[in-house]
This record gives sequence, structure tokens and C-alpha cells, in this order.
Amino acid sequence: MNDVILEEAREDYVRAKVPSKSKPGTFHTVELTPYGAICDCRGVLNLKHRDYCVHANTVLEYVKTRGLHFAMNEKIKVDSYFVKTNSFIDEFGGLIAGEPTLFYGPDGSGKTISVLTIIARYSNICDGKIVYINTETGDPQNRYAKNQIMNFGGKLENVEFFAFAEEGKLHSFLGGRGEEKAEKVSLKDVMKKDDIAMVAIDSISRFYNVQVNNVPPQQRPSIASQFAGKLGVWTRFLQECMFKTKPFPVIYVAWMRSSIGEVLAKKEKTEKDVEEMISPQQLKEWTGPKALGYWSKTIYKILPAGVGKIQFTQIRGEHMMKQVVCKITPKGVEVE
Ligand SMILES: [Zn+2]
Repeated sequence: MNDVILEEAREDYVRAKVPSKSKPGTFHTVELTPYGAICDCRGVLNLKHRDYCVHANTVLEYVKTRGLHFAMNEKIKVDSYFVKTNSFIDEFGGLIAGEPTLFYGPDGSGKTISVLTIIARYSNICDGKIVYINTETGDPQNRYAKNQIMNFGGKLENVEFFAFAEEGKLHSFLGGRGEEKAEKVSLKDVMKKDDIAMVAIDSISRFYNVQVNNVPPQQRPSIASQFAGKLGVWTRFLQECMFKTKPFPVIYVAWMRSSIGEVLAKKEKTEKDVEEMISPQQLKEWTGPKALGYWSKTIYKILPAGVGKIQFTQIRGEHMMKQVVCKITPKGVEVE
């Protein structure tokens, strides 16, 4: 325990390095937040709250001996119920307040336009502010999203837009703590002024995808472990926000890194490929980062279904295996 290197220690954030037992001379980086622990140790997806790895527990013990009382919140039980949005997603009963919903699909499948349609429709009837977080376009003004929501008849004044170009900023926004000390914005700043009606993060897997594609294959499990830790922090943070105010729906949009995603990227598709793409049975589960499947209570697969059409399949949820085909219109995504 004497070997713990404390890099930063405050009552709401700790970062430290812990020596690896299996690989002497190497270290694991641990972050503690009130919403959970993050570690890069391989193969350990610390999804359950009390089930952190030995490194996270070592740091927790270490800060205690230093007189820092670092408390991690217990799991919070938030009520969940269906919320009608006036959009195509109501075909599945609506969105569920209190729990994250995952929208996943390959590039260009229509995930973003679908989410923007839901926001536009819901912005006309919602109570409070819809928070849209863009990590994909690199435009700090969010012009594309604003234009689309306006074109789709949405009320822009009911939507708060954020754009994050670095994971640290997203992490800070959702209860973690980024590297930069300056200009920290958090969802709690929005909550000081308004109730939250919904949060959509488009996409939640952006930084993970970049990181995982830029390391040698043997380092990918440690990126996945860190992502699992962060996603746990973000999700528990959102649950705490709901607990303090009222439950709201959360949409996690994720680009799909899976065999289906690869098949869809292929120019020449075999019969079998096509079958797998349209089958709700095969490869039906989320095969991206495990943690996203763990935290998302409702999951939709989104696939292109011919020119100007999008197919939604509920992979997990009360309407499991139900499929709805929509068309893209100038007013947004509508049930065909
Ligand atoms: Zn660890």
C-alpha cells in the first residue's frame, strides 16, 4: 500500500497509481468519484458497485489512512415509467424515464436524425429542458442539430445544446472529473435553472471508438475496462440527478463495432450477411463495449432499410423483437 502514488486527492475526486502485482514495474491508474471507480486493469469490468477491483480498493483504503473520507454513493433506486414523446418511438410505448435507452447501429443508419426527431417532437410537450450532447461533429455551435430540430418543428428554447471534443469534458459534465481545471460545466449547472426533461448523448461511444482504434489489440481490454468504469460513473450520476428531481429518459447513442457493423460496411453482401442483418434472432445482442449492454435497460438496433428508410428493432425491453420501419421526411423520421 505504501507504493500507491497519489496524483490528486480531493473529497470528490481521487486519482492514483497502483503497482501491478502480475507485471512488476507497471502501474494501474485508478480514479475514484462519488459515482464509482475507474481502473484500467484488464478483463475486470467492475459493473457492480461493491465489486471494484483490488486496485480501486487499495486506493480507497489508502486515502482513508490519510484521513480523507471518500464516500461513494450507494446504488440509487429511481422509479421508471413510460414517457410519450409524440414521435415514432411511441410505437414502442415511448421512452422510459429513469433508465438509459441504447440506440445502436452502423454509420449512416439514421441514429442521429432519429434522436433529433424525438427531441423535436418531445420539445413541444416536455416539462423542463432537453439536454443534447454532441460528441461527433466537432461543431461547438451544434448548428446541424439546431437546424434539424427547427426544421422538424421543435422548440429550440426547450433544448440545451452541448458539444464536447474531448472525453474529459464529457466526463466532467457527467459527474467525473476531466483533466482541465478550467471551464468545468456539469449537468448540475443546467439543473440549477431548470428541471431536466431528457438527456441524449450522441454518441456515447465516440471517444471509446477513437481510443480503441488507436492502440495495439492487446491494449484494447484495458480501454474497455476504463470505459466500463466511466459509463458506470455517468449512469450513476444521472440516476442521482433523477433521484434529486424527477426521473427523465436518457438516450445513449452508440456506433456499432460488431460483426453486424462490419457486414454492413462490406460492399458485397452475401445472402447469409443479409439474413443476419435482418434477423432479430442472430447477433441480436449488443456486441460493442459490454458495459453499454449492461447499463442500458432498453436497446434498439437501428439499420438502414432501403432508400430513405430506417428500421428499428427493439433488442431488449417490453416490446422485444418488435420492428418498426420509418421513413425520413422533411419533418423528421415518421412511421411508414
Ligand atoms: Zn484495477
